[in-house]
Amino acid sequence: MLPESRQGATRLSPYIRHGLLPLPVVWDAVADAPGRDRHRFRDELLWQEYARHLYARVGPDLARPLRSGQPVLPDGAVPWDDPWTRDMACMDHAVGSLLDDGWVVNQQRMWLASQWSVRGGRAWRAGEEAMFAHLLDGSRAANRLGWQWTVGTGSGKPYGFSRWQVEKRAPQLCRSCPLADDCPVQDWPESSRGGPVDGPDLGRGAGEAVHAGPAEVEGAGTGEAVWLTAESLGDADPALAADPDRPVEFCFDELLLARLRVSGKRLVFLAECLGDLATSYDVTVRRGDPLTELAGRPLAATWTPVPGWARRAAALDVPEQHPWPWLRRPRPSSVRSFSAWRKAVER
Ligand SMILES: Cc1cc2nc3c(=O)[nH]c(=O)nc-3n(C[C@H](O)[C@H](O)[C@H](O)COP(=O)(O)OP(=O)(O)OC[C@H]3O[C@@H](n4cnc5c(N)ncnc54)[C@H](O)[C@@H]3O)c2cc1C
Repeated sequence: MLPESRQGATRLSPYIRHGLLPLPVVWDAVADAPGRDRHRFRDELLWQEYARHLYARVGPDLARPLRSGQPVLPDGAVPWDDPWTRDMACMDHAVGSLLDDGWVVNQQRMWLASQWSVRGGRAWRAGEEAMFAHLLDGSRAANRLGWQWTVGTGSGKPYGFSRWQVEKRAPQLCRSCPLADDCPVQDWPESSRGGPVDGPDLGRGAGEAVHAGPAEVEGAGTGEAVWLTAESLGDADPALAADPDRPVEFCFDELLLARLRVSGKRLVFLAECLGDLATSYDVTVRRGDPLTELAGRPLAATWTPVPGWARRAAALDVPEQHPWPWLRRPRPSSVRSFSAWRKAVER
């Protein structure tokens, strides 16, 4: 984890999350990498794909515990007021990365999530929202999966965070910590697993068409303008690539932004992506209600595996729809765990 120069991380996630780098492109780009590196990196890409499949399948239910309740504090223990207290050097470093850079290395995201819920006893959804607001790569799919997996609601096995991990991955943090001699996370958290819940059906799903979108272009050439969203914001967007001469429409959804309150860093990132696009395409950026702003015009768009896109597309005129660039096209399979899902999609 530290020093940063030795981190096992590419920091590609904001570009992958916003569709500037489609997963199949990144997958192919490492074809010539040394075997072990290639294998491990592609494994990470599959986690992203798994998150997308899971979200396409369960939608807003990803906000509910999938398999068990959140861990329970021992009798008599009270939730921490501030689980991410910056008095601890490990939390200070992780929270600093989140607030200042909008990007946090995976291990530290696990520290933050575990410290918030498993030891701190705070509701995981509130922590997930706090992290989502600051991450440049924040997505409902990967962030909720990451939280559910770490706090155990998705896996049944909470990940415990303690000084041991910090000493192993970033011992310099403990050396500089004002609480080094009175460490609040010296031992493993004592919370116990949450009980079973009545979560969404994660078994073999309905049918591919429901969760995968079109396999071929529908209504080719019928869209007058290309509608881009934050899910697919680069020139790799299939609808844009199909005809780069068409005007491009993007609408900041004012109500959604008011509700999500994402950080300025995220908005700047999106604005920079749009600025880049505008150097090569005829881009119009709007702010308001997309259903009003984009109404009355036949649009070309890329089918997108998030519930908000489906809702808006159904209310707009989108006669031309392009397939989503899946790494593994969804088919009826279990999404109960990464390994079960992987076995099914790789068959
Ligand atoms: C609590 C928690 C919250 C998270 N929230 C998000 C989020 O909102 N958005 C997000 O993209 N990732 C999230 N992750 C996954 C992971 O931490 C980041 O994708 C990764 O740290 C990004 O760094 P990187 O680009 O250097 O990854 P690399 O290790 O270089 O991996 C390459 C790519 O694989 C994907 N990837 C890697 N690990 C995961 C993973 N566990 N789950 C899903 N995709 C993965 C990312 O797209 C990443 O860019 C979260 C993980 C946890 C534990």
